[in-house]
Amino acid sequence: MNISHIEHIGIAVENLNESIKFYEDVLGLKCYSIEEVADQKVKTAFFMVGQTKIELLESTSPDGPIGKYIDKKGQGIHHLAFAVNNATEALKLAEEKGVTLIDKESRKGAEGLHIGFLHPKSTHGVLTEFCSKEV
Ligand code: ZN
Repeated sequence: MNISHIEHIGIAVENLNESIKFYEDVLGLKCYSIEEVADQKVKTAFFMVGQTKIELLESTSPDGPIGKYIDKKGQGIHHLAFAVNNATEALKLAEEKGVTLIDKESRKGAEGLHIGFLHPKSTHGVLTEFCSKEV
């Protein structure tokens, strides 16, 4: 599986602009990119912390995954993403070990990365994502 580092921490927020202010004005980080990912119904804002990113996620629709999450649990840490060589391969390896997948194969995520999720039922409550530059 070859996890090299934590690629990003995904944080569900109600209002992207309000949250960006906290990360910039209080924590002194710089938002370097805002991107809408249409098929996930989110707008994302990225901050670099060492080689790990903070990914803020604001829902663009109440029926999107982040909209539903905030409805149920409120704002907060939503998922943990590990950098791997090949996200599809990492998903397969996890499946072979009995993990339930949300994505059988990687798909395109923010920043052009290939991403795939493991089901939190199989990961002790943490929605876990694999990210890779190649498929
Ligand atoms: Zn993510």
